Amino acid sequence: MKKSRSLCRKVLIYLFLFSLLPVFSVALSAQEYEKDTDYVIDDAEIEYLFTVDQYLEEHVVQGFAIQNGVVFQLHDGGRCSTYKLDTGEKLGQFHLGSFYTHNHCGNGNFGWVYPEGNTEFPALYVSGDLTTKACYVENVTATSAELIQTIYFDITPSTYTGGQVILDRERNRIVYMQREKKNISDHTNVYRMFEFPIPALDAGKEIRYTNADMLCEPYVLPFYPGIYQGACIYGDTILQTHGYSKGETEYGAKVGMVCYDTVTHDFTRAFDLTGMINVEPQGAFVYDGRLYMNFVNGNFYEIKPKLSIPTKGYDIICAENEEQLLASLAKKVSAPYAWKDANTESLNWNTQTGGFSVSVTLQTPYNDMQVTLTGTALGHRFGEWAITSHATEKTTGKSTRTCIYCGDTETKLLEKLPAEDEPNPMIPVLICVGTAAAISFSAVGITIAVRKKKRA
Ligand SMILES: [Zn+2]
Repeated sequence: MKKSRSLCRKVLIYLFLFSLLPVFSVALSAQEYEKDTDYVIDDAEIEYLFTVDQYLEEHVVQGFAIQNGVVFQLHDGGRCSTYKLDTGEKLGQFHLGSFYTHNHCGNGNFGWVYPEGNTEFPALYVSGDLTTKACYVENVTATSAELIQTIYFDITPSTYTGGQVILDRERNRIVYMQREKKNISDHTNVYRMFEFPIPALDAGKEIRYTNADMLCEPYVLPFYPGIYQGACIYGDTILQTHGYSKGETEYGAKVGMVCYDTVTHDFTRAFDLTGMINVEPQGAFVYDGRLYMNFVNGNFYEIKPKLSIPTKGYDIICAENEEQLLASLAKKVSAPYAWKDANTESLNWNTQTGGFSVSVTLQTPYNDMQVTLTGTALGHRFGEWAITSHATEKTTGKSTRTCIYCGDTETKLLEKLPAEDEPNPMIPVLICVGTAAAISFSAVGITIAVRKKKRA
């Protein structure tokens, strides 16, 4: 007996422990899940476009920017080559106004304000000077450049030079970023970030920013060892290229892009081009919703990150018309996607079954993407009218009906009841009928009388 009780207890203990197993494993996977979702690694496809001159006067390609279908390829030392984006045809090669030995031209971003007399290209912000903490604002054409403003950053903490400027159109400001340490292999390195207003182009040839001009306190972003390259901001995302480092970076990519949120300052996502392109990237720029990257060998690519957006199941309760359907659909799209536009001509909506599909443009952290979203959307289906307040002789009443899908209600007024002391509308009718009958009787009588007279 004792033995079997002990066995029984053992079995119970095992059963108890066994029952805890799913709890432990859920807790464990939740922890792993949390760690894994700190950031997302996206797949990416690449499309080779063309190759530009790798060297201009023996100075290698650096950052670039695109405007009006023209690629401005910067070269070390304040040099620039221009190319047609669609064909790669060379348009010009010239010195920038900031043609200085130390102007490394690590980054180029177009602004959105046009220099006086230039209707073709807004001001171009060239940065990445290796000795001076400065950004050079250039008035460019496809064949020339003129320095119109120099922005100096006399700021603390003073870190390694070679900092670069990225323009934040969403928040209308300059983001000046520097590495804390020169050593790119140092895993304790960080990016130190400073934000300033964008000076008006006519605010002076020289702008000297100090800490007093900052729009917020300086902050840091994680640095992923590798060679940090050109960057830009698209929407709320800093797109920072990096590579080609000798070893792997902390998150495993040797050539790629990391994304930081401009508001939360989080490292949100990344993609890895290792194995597809095994040379150093130089910069990134989003133009017309497309993400472009250039590389040290002069190659240009369009990069198409593959974000896995759900395309089905956009079920919308009660859309009365196409406009309402698209407005509801726009609200259903959630981060990291932002609704940009719908191709209304592509909307295919079966109002009987509710099924619809529509081609839309969504903004991702990297670019714009076209996807077809499908779901169901129906018009309201109302139940029976029910009187919610009865009409009286003095007040109107109300009758409502409710949509069985969404609970929307429709109301109609019920007219006041007729007052009791009003004459019965039937009485005048009877009088009229009676009068008419009397008249016709008398008419018959008159006719008879006339006839009688004739005979007489
Ligand atoms: Zn409804």
